[in-house]
Amino acid sequence: MRLAIPKETHPGENRVPVIPDTVKKLTRLGAEVVIESEMGSGSGFTDEEYVKAGATVSHDRTALFAEADMLLRLRKPTLDEVGLMKTGCIHISYLDPFNEPELVRALKAGGITSISMEMIPRTTRSQKMDALSSQANLAGYVMVMQAATHLPRIFPMMMTPAGTLKPAKVFIIGAGVAGLQAIATAKRLGAKVTAFDTRPVVAEQVQSLGATFLDIDLGETGETAGGYAKELTPEQIQMQRDAQKAVIAESDVLITTAQVFGRKPPVIVTRDMVEGMKPGSVVVDMAAETGGNVEGSVPNETVVINGVTVVGKGNLSNEVCRDASQMYSSNLFSLVEDSWNEESKSFVIDFDHDILPGCIITHGGEVTNDTIKNILEGSN
Ligand code: NAD
Repeated sequence: MRLAIPKETHPGENRVPVIPDTVKKLTRLGAEVVIESEMGSGSGFTDEEYVKAGATVSHDRTALFAEADMLLRLRKPTLDEVGLMKTGCIHISYLDPFNEPELVRALKAGGITSISMEMIPRTTRSQKMDALSSQANLAGYVMVMQAATHLPRIFPMMMTPAGTLKPAKVFIIGAGVAGLQAIATAKRLGAKVTAFDTRPVVAEQVQSLGATFLDIDLGETGETAGGYAKELTPEQIQMQRDAQKAVIAESDVLITTAQVFGRKPPVIVTRDMVEGMKPGSVVVDMAAETGGNVEGSVPNETVVINGVTVVGKGNLSNEVCRDASQMYSSNLFSLVEDSWNEESKSFVIDFDHDILPGCIITHGGEVTNDTIKNILEGSN
């Protein structure tokens, strides 16, 4: 089976889908691996390293797409790229299928088997394939680094002959994968950390990291069977805002990571709350690119609101692209290896598999994922 890895073309994207070490593992499975020349350059991997690992290098992007049995990628394909792929080609990448009806239709029409990395079920067995988690983990770390860089204070307490500096107060809203890593990172730097999440099960995890869990009674919240937060009612959101206001006002750093899977992130910090923070405080809004948890945050920009720095940087794991590439590459390999047939030396699409059907979006000219199918039918 011919596995092709094209170069990522999204502006500013330095992560790469497959690192040389993974090529070695793929060739050991019996796969034929072709990379586009310079594919790894964003994260500092040379063509020579890939060749040494067993890949061949192509300088013809069109042929690379047209001849591939499987494409391993980070970002979704363009419509033109879908047009280049042969029927039956397996395309694995982030797809953003909730927001890309036209792309899903093109993949369906082209007879492409598309696998969406964000739809991999969040089960214990699929953890090693879970790119949302691997990248969110790094994003959590990066958000704290961003905050520390912009804050005109240090994070830890410091007792010196020149006086005592109090630890910075960090408030983290949303304690999923990214939020928990942000808590751990801020704690390691010596900050005093408080966190809140609508899923009550998280309280214990927050406390085990040495942070304080802010107790807010929002009535019934809970999580879905998949472990995701349930969407709050407008009344609950208002209750949350009111209860957080005082903590936000006295925090030096506010980091927001609240997401509701498949929906626009909730706006939980209003502009007046940002304005109520001390001048010099920093807000990092992880959701800025997808609508924002914080009123006034601007995607991919750092703005100042009433003396408060608001960071809206997206694609946070790209800041640590070398590690992000290694983790994503490992996620991809685990997914491929799990459905690899050693005899036929090929990837087997099996709708009785425990993980695959959840993340296959299109196959054999059909949209096979029910959730996405419903969205598509609704958007007609
Ligand atoms: P996510 O990115 O969907 O959301 C981030 C966090 O925001 C979540 O913790 C969510 O509860 C929270 N949130 C939503 N609305 C909020 C609000 N109004 N205020 C405050 N917080 C709010 O979540 P994620 O990090 O991708 O994790 C989703 C779930 O999947 C979690 O339960 C996680 O533990 C679970 N998970 C399980 C595995 C596994 O192997 N079992 C692997 C990865 C993730």
